[in-house]
Amino acid sequence: MPANAPLVQDLHTIPRKLPDTGRINLIGLTRDGMRAALIAAGTPERQAKMRVGQIWQWIYHWGVRDFAVMTNLAKDYRAFLAQHFNIDLPEVVTRQVSSDGTRKYLVRIAGGHEVEVVYIPEEDRGTLCISSQVGCTLTCSFCHTGTQKLVRNLTAGEIIGQVMLARDDLGEWPEPGQGTGENGPRLLSNIVLMGMGEPLYNFDNVRDAMKIAMDGEGIALSRRRITLSTSGVVPEIARAATEIGCLLAVSFHATTDDVRDTLVPINKRWNIATLLDALREYPNASNSERITFEYVMLKGVNDTDADARRLVQLIAGIPAKINLIPFNEWPGAPYQRSDRARIERFADIIYHAGYASPIRTPRGEDIMAACGQLKSATERERKSRAQIAAEAGLTD
Ligand code: SAH
Ligand code: SF4
Repeated sequence: MPANAPLVQDLHTIPRKLPDTGRINLIGLTRDGMRAALIAAGTPERQAKMRVGQIWQWIYHWGVRDFAVMTNLAKDYRAFLAQHFNIDLPEVVTRQVSSDGTRKYLVRIAGGHEVEVVYIPEEDRGTLCISSQVGCTLTCSFCHTGTQKLVRNLTAGEIIGQVMLARDDLGEWPEPGQGTGENGPRLLSNIVLMGMGEPLYNFDNVRDAMKIAMDGEGIALSRRRITLSTSGVVPEIARAATEIGCLLAVSFHATTDDVRDTLVPINKRWNIATLLDALREYPNASNSERITFEYVMLKGVNDTDADARRLVQLIAGIPAKINLIPFNEWPGAPYQRSDRARIERFADIIYHAGYASPIRTPRGEDIMAACGQLKSATERERKSRAQIAAEAGLTD
């Protein structure tokens, strides 16, 4: 291939060659993708499936990054792999630890772009909040990420790479020869696609990355420990169940179309009634796999008793829980957090209607790691304040 030939764009099926080395990064390839890549590089077809199984275990079970360590492969074959392939993760630029133990990683991906990843430890589990896009095409008026233009979708490798680098930092890969490391509680036990970006606008890469996370010969997280949050991309919602099988969260945030048009502008495309129809048909919804309705509490905007009662009426018949998120402030944000008493009253009304209504405790606020505070500080392409206000319908 000539040096200046265009990079292969279809990352889902065809691995991308790294521009500097001409080697292909194995991270993020599905099993089928890896098999195809091994064959294309010269691995005999009849051996390829077995080789994928071996390499997969090294990379995703043991966390190995060096072909030389893959001792169940012949030396020549290891050299062949090193010649054609890389095992590359995105680079961690900074790592901040909050006073409450929350960790935020600023991660650099190809092209010099940056995304943020947040690890939230709890007593018996730990949740990793990962990003699916640099920036976001949507412009929810209360969300910091929404003030940043979409720069690009993350590749599957960059998405699963976030999980792997967090496991690196937590020291959670098992030691070769020391058992599987699966007996104790996991530090990183849950994944939420609630970082930067709208995951349903980068569906194929999100799906491939989550399939890697769920693969039993590797990271082996159960599908029920992965939650995808969407602002309401109605035509893609069912795929989260049929192609990934994960749990679903929806950024609901308002009980009338007027208010939701302002807060979550995608509502102008798919309104509340249309969204609720899609949720009623969500293939996996059941009492054991309820849909989470996220509801950000904005003072004087969406937090009245009437809102709470309307919310309960709207979601009737959907196996649901409501996660109330006290608004997290960011510089220049046009909203304030509802008072604690107001949030509790709102939660009570929902609870008495028969729904779980936990109030999310903000985590990592001191390092700007809480929900909706993520943004790549160094991204140059920003929307102006006026543009944000206009898009959110906040101007006259
Ligand atoms: N784009 C997806 C996932 C990322 S946002 C989505 O919108 O669902 C994850 C959650 O944080 C969403 O429910 C979002 O509405 C919420 N959020 C955004 N900004 C926030 C803020 N400033 N305070 C509290 N929650 C916020
Ligand atoms: Fe994008 Fe979600 Fe933020 Fe809306 S809330 S701007 S969809 S990241």
